Amino acid sequence: MIKAHPSEALLYQYSSGELSCAMSLMVATHIDMCPSCQRVSAEIEQHLCEKHFDEIAAKWDQKQCDDMLAAIFSSESSHPLIHNDPNNMICLQGRRFNLPPTLANNAYRIGDWNHMLGKLWRAPVSIGGVENTNLIYMEPGATVPEHTHKGVEATLVVNGTFSDEYDSYEDGDFIMLDASRKHSPRTVQEDCLTLATLDAPLHFTSGISRLLNPFSSLFFK
Ligand SMILES: [Zn+2]
Repeated sequence: MIKAHPSEALLYQYSSGELSCAMSLMVATHIDMCPSCQRVSAEIEQHLCEKHFDEIAAKWDQKQCDDMLAAIFSSESSHPLIHNDPNNMICLQGRRFNLPPTLANNAYRIGDWNHMLGKLWRAPVSIGGVENTNLIYMEPGATVPEHTHKGVEATLVVNGTFSDEYDSYEDGDFIMLDASRKHSPRTVQEDCLTLATLDAPLHFTSGISRLLNPFSSLFFK
């Protein structure tokens, strides 16, 4: 059961096309996995359409409105059909993961897997913009040293379970953390595949992990 969702404000920005490409990918992938956010974003889109249509209708005469509607309904969609290939999986460490449709459609943006340290693996997702977006794979028993964020870190659990000082998170959970929140994600018995985007490097905060601060560029490259 998904318990951590994007805020309604973020869903509104998503539907309005105001989010960065990286954050759009994160929110769209969550929506793929979350019936509740599918309903909310459909309502938001309906509301936005009505609002825009009312604005246009207030300015245009009847013929202009009729022409626009005729053009919309006669034109073929310029969007390719969603390619929801059931074979769209990624494999790592002998595990196979199904990608949600939005991520599967962007599979060509996923780079090679690199071993970061310990039980952590990373594959960059090339989506443009200032953010750094990666698939992060945590083997069972992995720990990311405690850190804060200079900017915002958004994490979506694609498959598996991880926990931090605040809670534990499962498939579909969407977590946003800002600079005020320190945390140290870890897995125990189960492994975890997440999609994560950062808009600034991590800042490691405690003990020996401070020595890792130069290493934070590994999380942000
Ligand atoms: Zn949701």
